[in-house]
Amino acid sequence: MFVGHYAAALALRPLKASPSLPVTFVAVQALDIGFFGLALADIERYSIEPGATVMNNLALEYLPYTHSLAGAAALSLLFGLALYPFMRARPRIMAAAIAAFCVFSHWLLDLPVHRPDLGIIGDSDHKLGFGLWNHPEIAMPLEVGVLLIGLFIWVSATRAKNTAGKYMPWIALALLLALQAFNWFGPQPTPETNLDEISMQALLAYGLIAVLAIFMERTRERKA
Ligand SMILES: [Zn+2]
Repeated sequence: MFVGHYAAALALRPLKASPSLPVTFVAVQALDIGFFGLALADIERYSIEPGATVMNNLALEYLPYTHSLAGAAALSLLFGLALYPFMRARPRIMAAAIAAFCVFSHWLLDLPVHRPDLGIIGDSDHKLGFGLWNHPEIAMPLEVGVLLIGLFIWVSATRAKNTAGKYMPWIALALLLALQAFNWFGPQPTPETNLDEISMQALLAYGLIAVLAIFMERTRERKA
């Protein structure tokens, strides 16, 4: 899952204790940011295997730290703890808990789409994943659907601070759908593609979307 992950950040934003969108947008992709970062460092591993799933060529071979159930839970906790002192929203403990939950929500949304490559503890033999990436007719509406629900909740609970704020939901929707469309229908990596380039490209996309979150946050505010 890619842009669907942002639904969790958007749906939780109306809560008074929610951290700002730039924080939660990074949080919901923290496990993938960690994964591609660790892949660049040769600590976690993937390869390109045409037909790995119907929807993408990514064979996720070794991702015990970021994508096992225990690893994801531990990283979520660490993320919340690390941000706790810097939280501006109150109560601070709730803000940190929401940030931690955003990190964990990534794993919960990866579970239905991944083929069984998500370990329970580390690289345990028993792997989880319901494999919806082999069923685009379900995975695609699911991804777009959860994003739309998240956006709708955020838009309903906020109002524009300025003219840009009126258009921001549409700008956000267009940009996220464009990136998702590129991911689905753009050129797919082949076994010859440089993996570091793929990892960098993914990290760049997450960075770009975090910048979008800064503008979303600046142009709309929670309704009184
Ligand atoms: Zn992931």
